[in-house]
Amino acid sequence: MRNHRAHQVDTLLGEQQLDACVFLHPPALRDLCGFTGSDAVLVVWPQGDCFLTDSRYVTQARQQVRADEIRQYAVKVDAIAELLRQRGARRIGFEAETLVFAILQRLRDKGPEGAEWVALDKPLSRLRGIKEQAEIAAMEKAALLNYEAFEEILPLLRPGVRESEIALALEFALRRRGGEDKAFDFIVASGPRGALPHGVAADRELAGGELVTLDFGTRVDGYFSDETVTVALGPVSDQLRQIYDTVLQAHDLALAAVRPGVSLRQIDAVARDFIAARGYGDYFGHGLGHGVGLEVHEYPTLSPRSEDSAEEGMVFTIEPGIYIPDLGGVRLEDMVVVTTGGCRVLTKIDKAFRNFKF
Ligand code: ZN
Ligand code: ZN
Repeated sequence: MRNHRAHQVDTLLGEQQLDACVFLHPPALRDLCGFTGSDAVLVVWPQGDCFLTDSRYVTQARQQVRADEIRQYAVKVDAIAELLRQRGARRIGFEAETLVFAILQRLRDKGPEGAEWVALDKPLSRLRGIKEQAEIAAMEKAALLNYEAFEEILPLLRPGVRESEIALALEFALRRRGGEDKAFDFIVASGPRGALPHGVAADRELAGGELVTLDFGTRVDGYFSDETVTVALGPVSDQLRQIYDTVLQAHDLALAAVRPGVSLRQIDAVARDFIAARGYGDYFGHGLGHGVGLEVHEYPTLSPRSEDSAEEGMVFTIEPGIYIPDLGGVRLEDMVVVTTGGCRVLTKIDKAFRNFKF
């Protein structure tokens, strides 16, 4: 009773000539066997998967998990090592980016003697980078909650309201609508704090004539939304308006460049080159975007260092920004899914310039 992606992992095991693959990272467990708890192990075998967990999760596992066998352990590493020895595994795959080094060392010590441990991060992240319809639907639902929550908190976007109040109101609005959790500590960065690309909401009060950047998201069925808007509180300087328009155009150009086969580096370059041509090249320091799924930041990355190309079914963000110290900043972020002929934007908040009047 495996899902599509678990079957793909099987194929991968064949290609890599692996006997088994050990997964401990919770998003991988959810992805491959449906388990939503935070501590367990899935060992994928062509002959039959084995799921291992401790007494806290056994009942939950029996209800949720798709695996041929469920075992309970007292000591996790011992149980994995014993299973691998019992089944005589020689080449064993693992996720190097998330497996704690000390655990890997103990697995090497206690597992089958002479076994070879093979890092599988790249091929696995490629598999997960292509989303299925149900995954895209969950992210679109999460994106819709972003839209509704943002509409609800609009009255708070006025001078005198603290950034932290806005972040809290967004969190409540998302949770009340069924969002499972906040995706990260929300960024509400107003005025000069807008120059901090990761300016988590602080005690600062919003003031007229400033821009405020809000970066927030939630989770539906385990899948994240991630979106950034920047709005103006009353009239802003010509320079701030110019920055906004530059980011918006870079964002629009990048969206228009997305289609299967185009290199992710090229999509990044479309936005980056435009911003540089407008004289703001030194003020856009981060990559253009990142994959979203069971993790807020996952494969692929859109940056000057990207090596892969857009593929149909990938979901990633497009989020150019300009951050000028002591002045302020603008970032606009949408999530898109790559389609046959281009892309479809999953996030719903309109990114056209908004100027609130008081
Ligand atoms: Zn974001
Ligand atoms: Zn993002």
